[in-house]
Amino acid sequence: MPETFTYTFDTPTYKGKTSFSTGLFIDGKWVDGAKKTTIDVINPTNGKLITKISEAVKEDVDTAVIAAQKAFDTVWGLNTPGAQRGRLLNKLADLMEANFDELAAIEALDNGKTFGWAKDVDVTESIACIRYYAGWADKIQGKVIETSDAKLTYTRHEPIGVVGQIIPWNFPLMMFAWKIGPALATGNCTVLKPSEFTPLTAIRMTELIQEAGFPPGVVNVIVGYGHIVGQAISEHPHIEKVAFTGSTLVGRKVMEAAARSNLKNVTLELGGKSPNIIFEDADIDQAVKFTSHGIFWNHGQACCAGSRIFVHEKVYDEFLTKFTAKAKSLKIGDPFGVDTYQGPQVSQIQFDRIMGYIDSGKEQGATCHLGGERFGEEGYFIKPTIFTDVKPDMKIVQEEIFGPVGVIIKFNNDDHVLEQANDTFYGLAAAVFSKNIDRALQIAHKLKAGTAWVNCINQLHPQVPFGGFKQSGIGRELGEYALENYTAVKAVHVNFRTTVD
Ligand code: NAD
Repeated sequence: MPETFTYTFDTPTYKGKTSFSTGLFIDGKWVDGAKKTTIDVINPTNGKLITKISEAVKEDVDTAVIAAQKAFDTVWGLNTPGAQRGRLLNKLADLMEANFDELAAIEALDNGKTFGWAKDVDVTESIACIRYYAGWADKIQGKVIETSDAKLTYTRHEPIGVVGQIIPWNFPLMMFAWKIGPALATGNCTVLKPSEFTPLTAIRMTELIQEAGFPPGVVNVIVGYGHIVGQAISEHPHIEKVAFTGSTLVGRKVMEAAARSNLKNVTLELGGKSPNIIFEDADIDQAVKFTSHGIFWNHGQACCAGSRIFVHEKVYDEFLTKFTAKAKSLKIGDPFGVDTYQGPQVSQIQFDRIMGYIDSGKEQGATCHLGGERFGEEGYFIKPTIFTDVKPDMKIVQEEIFGPVGVIIKFNNDDHVLEQANDTFYGLAAAVFSKNIDRALQIAHKLKAGTAWVNCINQLHPQVPFGGFKQSGIGRELGEYALENYTAVKAVHVNFRTTVD
């Protein structure tokens, strides 16, 4: 039997207790992994162990897939009306609301994001996402299609069956919600793997799923390492679809495994190196506020982070002065501190990776204008960092750093900045700041990115699709578009004639 993890929060902003299983959730039960091994969960604020959780291996993926298939064939899929699926999803959202602060606290503890942001964004948006898809559950409709024959022809949007879902560590709860919302609303069963770095909110959420009354086997959550469990999900012959969020490097492996095994349907939400363009006619104070949020929010660990900041030469000095002041004002420290804006990076690995990029920027001749070093003595904190005097071929300009590190590039020509902004194999998001809406929209439409923000940044809504152009992904999450990822279209032909010509 897996152990129970109990933790008491006694912080300046949250006092409370949490307690949940450390096991895998398969077929409606909490169990140990087949190998009975565990994974250490580390607190990024101080580098100490929070708890150990059961590690899944390939055999556990097999067991979970069998449970999911049985549930799909007997109690879910075409066996449960959409309205009932919607009711269960709404019940889950109710339970998330009832445990709102606790979920935010677990997220802050495990990931290092601030408790305040976890409440305002991660938990709030996750609930909104689940409610949004609850609303869709009884509105999954096909079409009646007229043909030249005397028959009734119509389409059905049926659930795919057993889907595999693999999520990253930067928004553990939100990515969980983005995945299960559309999958369950459309009637699929899931085998979901959270990141091994941040499994705790997924486990607590799974308890809420159990409490909401989803039948056993509909949701199976197994924590394990990517190259073992993620790989086993991607190549499983009885998983018909895999939805992956993570790096472009691993996304490629998922797609290769899916192609090699059973040609399963694949959607990928991958990395980015998003441009943020500030024209000379922008509201500079507004641009500074959003630019700071674009690169420093969530400690730069956002796939859509506006990490390449292009500033028109006429406002460059003013922008840099104000942006620097803003960056300096961001309070770094304890995620549960009263005014903390920025907590630690998620892990030692990410800390080292980001510091490696900072070193490369310095070595390749860029000016480290601000930050560029760790904060404090323990934990994985990095000061907000700004590079200037960068060249297009530098690693810090080309590669996704996934930390609080922005590069500022001066420009003086619309066509040239557009060319530079699009000079990346990523295409996740982009932002444009200008009071001239005609100019802003012309650029926004020409940017090769799945999302273009005008006079704002990092805005996401459950109703609005999100996903990447180029190597930032395949398919769209959120909105009505995500339903397509989880449904298979069947055409039904009903013949009215008694004889065949
Ligand atoms: P990652 O690619 O290292 O890991 C993501 C997930 O994949 C984890 O659960 C991991 O265990 C698993 N994994 C690792 N190797 C695997 C393999 N061989 N087969 C299958 N699964 C495997 O990414 P990360 O470090 O967790 O997250 C950061 C990345 O995620 C960044 O590149 C970021 O841009 C991206 N991201 C994208 C979006 C989006 O919506 N586009 C959202 C969040 C994060």
